Amino acid sequence: MEKTTQLYEGKAKKVYATDDPGCCIVSYKDDATAFNGLKKGTILGKGAVNNRVSNHLMRLLEANGVPTHLIEELNDRETLVKRVTIVPLEVIVRNIAAGSLAKRLGLDEGVKMRSPVLEYCYKNDDLGDPMVNDSHILAMGWATRAELDQIAGYALRVNQVLADYLRDAGIELIDFKLEFGKTADGTILLADEISPDTCRFWDSKTHEKLDKDRFRRDLGGVEDAYQEILRRLLGE
Ligand code: 5GP
Repeated sequence: MEKTTQLYEGKAKKVYATDDPGCCIVSYKDDATAFNGLKKGTILGKGAVNNRVSNHLMRLLEANGVPTHLIEELNDRETLVKRVTIVPLEVIVRNIAAGSLAKRLGLDEGVKMRSPVLEYCYKNDDLGDPMVNDSHILAMGWATRAELDQIAGYALRVNQVLADYLRDAGIELIDFKLEFGKTADGTILLADEISPDTCRFWDSKTHEKLDKDRFRRDLGGVEDAYQEILRRLLGE
């Protein structure tokens, strides 16, 4: 299938229409941003790592009862996906305190929580993706009760499947962000990406960070961390 017009350019990806109205092509970039676009840079090879890692994890999730937008990986950077309207929420699941949760609640990073924490943020750069709860989401019409229940169920299932799978690869799943979409017939699918850009991955033994926090926090070894995730998950 061929790309036709560009529908959207985000911070890390471009999305193109195709000659099939039900399909899009996602193209992953090496561009990296953090802190709502305030910090900008390039992570060489990131687009290819994120494309391949995300597709690998989405295939695993499909096999474990989570429907996703994935159709077919086209090449290193490009993937054919089902066309969806993105539900304007960042769905965050956390197992270990880190990042904004550690800051907000005054916790040390690395503290394990008694049960997974589910958070929603309204996807809006101008507002800095503010955290919202179920009643905001229903009141604003971003999702119905039934859709939100389905999204929450999928998010916790993703956490279970990924945490178990990653543990075997020596990776601790600290937290991650998901986005869901709705097809023309109203089906909710897991969309966007699951990658070192959108997850916190720590080495199980050393707790070394193997994700975008290396870029956000100027820790160095950014490219190596992305390649290490590709190596551990896809064996290359
Ligand atoms: P935090 O709220 O601690 O900054 O992020 C929690 C988790 O969600 C982290 O794994 C982080 O990578 C992911 N996350 C939250 N917001 C965003 C976002 O706007 N973009 C990306 N790429 N990841 C996000």
